[in-house]
Amino acid sequence: MEKIDIMSLDVDEIGEILVGIGEKKFRAKQIFQWLHVKRIFDFDEMTDISVQLRGRLKEIFCVNGLFVQKRLESSIDNTVKYLYRLSDGNFVETVLMEYSYGYSLCVSTQVGCKMGCRFCASAIAGFVRNLTPAEILMQVYETEKNSGVKISGLVLMGIGEPLDNYENVVKFLRLLSHKSGNNFSLRHVSLSTCGIVPKIDELADLELGLTLCVSLHSADNSSRSEIMPVNRTWDIDRLLAACRRYIEKTGRRITFEYAVIEGVNSSDRDADRLAGLLRGMNCHVNLIPVNKVKERNYRTAGNAVADFADRLSRRGINATVRRTLGSDIEAACGQLRRDAAEKQMNGGVNG
Ligand code: SAH
Repeated sequence: MEKIDIMSLDVDEIGEILVGIGEKKFRAKQIFQWLHVKRIFDFDEMTDISVQLRGRLKEIFCVNGLFVQKRLESSIDNTVKYLYRLSDGNFVETVLMEYSYGYSLCVSTQVGCKMGCRFCASAIAGFVRNLTPAEILMQVYETEKNSGVKISGLVLMGIGEPLDNYENVVKFLRLLSHKSGNNFSLRHVSLSTCGIVPKIDELADLELGLTLCVSLHSADNSSRSEIMPVNRTWDIDRLLAACRRYIEKTGRRITFEYAVIEGVNSSDRDADRLAGLLRGMNCHVNLIPVNKVKERNYRTAGNAVADFADRLSRRGINATVRRTLGSDIEAACGQLRRDAAEKQMNGGVNG
């Protein structure tokens, strides 16, 4: 029988399995604390569990760790980018960022991505599979262990579309914030989506308290469909209607992400359209300089982000400019994984 990765299970699920093998249910909480509070993943080290039960646990469960394949540290601002190898040989990226208020971690939710955004390296590398709840969670635990820091903020903005792996992402959030475990406040989590409308509604219903970020990148349907194929399924009107419902239901402000791309979305007309769409909405615009991806020509001119912020501000829309972190180790999101996967195909990974 294939072993179950215990890191994807909550206390109740572990409890049910224990009851099924004639053990006491309350042991589940003890085991969960070893895993999520003490971060002990070797059942033999769980000293308040009988030797006999430890033996059973080893037969039923496993913990699939992540292996640090590559670790790039910025010499400018302490940003650390990890390339993790998963138990099946696939790779994901995780980025640790230092802010004045603490450390924030950007995690991946899928191996690759199906969404096909034109400017994104993850899309170019293609989709392989969803991450399990355990694999998303272990990015947090492994990075805390490797770096020795406590993570206080989390962003689901790495490789993948979180709402295209909805169930595993929600399970991950529940595990991360479990009162008997790591007890991480979901107020400090931001989830970024390219705009999967039905899932935005489902997420709103859960009232998790997290911050929803929506990758808008254009206020015009034809140009948005061009750079973000998801817009052909759920266009701007439907997306913004879902955003309004989300705000109404949760009482929380939405962040719209907008990569300023020369010749695509940064003219006065674009600012007019964007301001028209967002005026009066409880939201915030985060402008991003586009990260160069080698297969594409998209770029952000020197002052373009600040100029566009001015254009918006003259139209009554406040925008912040995303700080660029780790510019010396940049390799835009998804590029490390793609390079490693290519190397593997060409005969073995050598870091
Ligand atoms: N799939 C999710 C989250 C992952 S991408 C989403 O689409 O929101 C995180 C953010 O980085 C998104 O806003 C995405 O549009 C943006 N992004 C991707 N590639 C980029 C690039 N080359 N330059 C700037 N931003 C990029």
